[in-house]
Amino acid sequence: MSKYVYFFGAGKAEGSAEMKELLGGKGANLAEMASIGLPVPAGFTISTEVCTYFNAHDRTYPSTLAAEVDAAIKRTEKLMGRTFGDPKDPLLVSGRSGARASMPGMMETVLNIGLTTKTLPGLIARTNNERFAWDCYRRLITMYSDVVMEKGAGISPPEGQGIRQQLDRLLENLKKKQGYEFDYQLTAADLQQLTDAYKTRIKEVLGEAFPDDPMEQLWGSIGAVFASWDGKRAVSYRRIEGIPDDWGTAVNVQTMVYGNMGENSATGVGFTRNPATGDDAFFGEWLPNAQGEDVVAGTRTPNPLNEASRNEGNTLPSLEKLTPQLYKELAGYRDTLEEHYTDMQDLEFTIEEKKLYMLQTRTGKRNGIAALRMAVEMVHDGLIDKATAIQRVKPSQLDELLHPMVDPELERTHQPLAKGLPAGPGGAVGKIVLTPDRAEAQAKDGEKVILVRTETSPEDVHGMHAAEAILTSRGGMTSHAALVARGWGKCCIVGCSALEIDMDRGEVRVDGTVLHEGDVITLNGTKGLVYQGELPLISTDPAKNVNLKTFLEWCDEVRTLGVRANADSPEDAEQARHLGAEGIGLTRTEHMFFEPERIKFVRQMILADNPEQRREAIMKLLPFQKDDFRGILLAMEGLPVTIRLLDPPLHEFVPHEEAQQVGLAKEMERSPEEIRARVEALHEFNPMLGHRGCRLGISYPEITEMQARAILEAAAELVKEGKDARPEIMVPLVGHFKELVHQRKIIEQVYEEVRQSIGEIPHLTIGTMIEVPRGAITADEIAEVADFFSFGTNDLTQMGCGFSRDDSGSFLPHYVESGIYPEDPFQSIDATGIGELVKIAVEKGRRVKPKLKLGVCGEHGGDPDSVHFFHKVGLDYVSCSPFRVPVARLAAAQVVLEEGEAS
Ligand code: ADP
Ligand code: MG
Ligand code: MG
Repeated sequence: MSKYVYFFGAGKAEGSAEMKELLGGKGANLAEMASIGLPVPAGFTISTEVCTYFNAHDRTYPSTLAAEVDAAIKRTEKLMGRTFGDPKDPLLVSGRSGARASMPGMMETVLNIGLTTKTLPGLIARTNNERFAWDCYRRLITMYSDVVMEKGAGISPPEGQGIRQQLDRLLENLKKKQGYEFDYQLTAADLQQLTDAYKTRIKEVLGEAFPDDPMEQLWGSIGAVFASWDGKRAVSYRRIEGIPDDWGTAVNVQTMVYGNMGENSATGVGFTRNPATGDDAFFGEWLPNAQGEDVVAGTRTPNPLNEASRNEGNTLPSLEKLTPQLYKELAGYRDTLEEHYTDMQDLEFTIEEKKLYMLQTRTGKRNGIAALRMAVEMVHDGLIDKATAIQRVKPSQLDELLHPMVDPELERTHQPLAKGLPAGPGGAVGKIVLTPDRAEAQAKDGEKVILVRTETSPEDVHGMHAAEAILTSRGGMTSHAALVARGWGKCCIVGCSALEIDMDRGEVRVDGTVLHEGDVITLNGTKGLVYQGELPLISTDPAKNVNLKTFLEWCDEVRTLGVRANADSPEDAEQARHLGAEGIGLTRTEHMFFEPERIKFVRQMILADNPEQRREAIMKLLPFQKDDFRGILLAMEGLPVTIRLLDPPLHEFVPHEEAQQVGLAKEMERSPEEIRARVEALHEFNPMLGHRGCRLGISYPEITEMQARAILEAAAELVKEGKDARPEIMVPLVGHFKELVHQRKIIEQVYEEVRQSIGEIPHLTIGTMIEVPRGAITADEIAEVADFFSFGTNDLTQMGCGFSRDDSGSFLPHYVESGIYPEDPFQSIDATGIGELVKIAVEKGRRVKPKLKLGVCGEHGGDPDSVHFFHKVGLDYVSCSPFRVPVARLAAAQVVLEEGEAS
């Protein structure tokens, strides 16, 4: 018989941290904390298998579950000395969801289950605290009606009309009437009156009475948690995070401890290290006289946990100062947990009448800066080894470090409009949008938007994801918005209380300034500053980041795949080298053709009537190109530089507008008609399959000759000057080996001349791109005449899948949405199709030339999944844009470590 229920409490647990699949993250860690002796209120976990069963069997349970739950309740009762549903001294519990991967706020939790008209007097009698008991009751009613009676029943009311919001408005009205600012000012009588009003409203709106039976409440909550796994918001979060639907969630039923019993009670959350900066200091927030959800909901400004967590301007007392004893105990658990889990933990605690309880621990979300810093410092502290550190930083987190920030120079001269808490660093510019749906829609239309909300909730996740940044007027550093944004490395400012958001008028008011939806603002998430209008963003210099440097050096020790960069200018090449590129994998020469003083000669070349004219025009480009190559070869001295011969179709270089054609005609002493006719003749129906790549060099050998001469003369001169120039000449778009034979002959001839006139180039190689499917399939023939292959995976994808890169935007997103392709094959290599072509070419090429050098220079070179793939098929290097180089270095190291684990 299957076991579905796992008990924890009093220093023992049936589960453990390893059992996340079965118990969910929360349940597994509650069990773990209980067994290592932390004060965890007793309870039990109903496994994720029940969730799967429940959703597959029409929302029913396995037949043996009820008996197991009853037994676990008995055990809890015995331990706590209290009975569930007892009118004299009732045991109350929470029903908490907990999936395998942490999904902040996505699933539902109900507190104070078991409180009814019959047990309420018992709770009052036992605690001698009438206000407290009624406060628990109104919380239960609010959560239960929202989670179980509304969402659990699949009701989705229009924005602002949810039962929870309706009840909250009743609460606000009462507070206003009584002249209160905070919830805790509500008296027992107020709360009693309020709960009556709540019940009436629930009956009206949902057509059902709030249940007055403890068992009904418990099973209602359990069912709602399981059902919420299939709810819209959970499903949407899973899509974004790539969490499989069949994992399911567990339900944790746990004895309530009360942070809302009075001034000696409190609730809070903490991170064992600062999740925004990585600083090795306990970091957190707490609220006196409050229950768990209050901190995350962000309705009150929380107190700082300690002085290290204090935000500028917050004068509320810290736990550290107020109750040093309790703080010390908590800080001790912080150390225990971090040592035990050897990672930064995100924890929840509650203090009931000066007694501390631990309610949750999990691996804390962090942004890129913090992830990197913690990984490096934990290695220095001996907590983890380098391999663990490397695996702990996601490539996307490294990418974040390379993200833009608001130009500090401009910030100095601009007055911020408002200041909030710096919840997610980096800068962002965008238009104000007040609802998540509009944020999503406008982002889809290519707008940059900033989602501005009072506070966010899990229902907003799709809009938060679509937005450039998130700005809220309420909430602390651990509010929902802060947590979610941090997980994504998104710029975010919370608790910006000067903002007054008026949804009805679509306005945001700040100290007399009125902003409207659609107005542009700029956020500095690192400092929490909001500016009106656009302040341009600048890139940060990753080379100045010492942690990054150390970390990437560790990656380099591990990886076997080389990392090069694509760069077309000496500046980019230098930048790439700075970021760790071990060479240039692709220099595109066509960009060099567009500069004003050159394009003239390019056009003369294209429009020439005969080879002599063409040669004359083209040779005028030689000095320019030679200069270009000299610069790049010098910047990359000692490292290989792959230079690709002219690739794009020629019509890209000729003027298509009448006025320009007339000007060109004058310049070339021709008639405008002649020019137009020539331009029209260059028109192609499928330019991507047209006259381009090596086809140009074959029709017009002068082009190849000139480019080869420019490269080889530049290199030979450098060598002669004692510089280590290492050019690799790359012929594009080869599909038939004879194309390469043809081009190679020209290059070799030029080299012979250069060698005689200037001198040798010891490291010269001549190779080809493999980007035409025929080229991949006949790679053995091509390898006979190539010193290297570089996979042009953009064209290979384009021609292999038959998707025009320029036109696929109209259907490819739909393909990805409907799961035909798991991802855009232009972004992440299509391993089974295009990847197979790469594999074939690798095998065939190496069969002929075992030492054939193999690389990739398509967009895919900077995509982590693709990097894994290229490592596995045995390429020598990937080449990507300079700013992706650190990401590629990390991904290349991670794949080695993954393989090590798998074997
Ligand atoms: P989430 O996954 O959204 O954080 P939780 O299950 O952790 O949901 O619960 C929400 C809040 O209620 C948390 O602050 C938590 O600490 C608090 N809480 C949950 N169970 C209990 C309990 N038994 N006693 C006191 N507080 C609780
Ligand atoms: Mg929690
Ligand atoms: Mg190409």
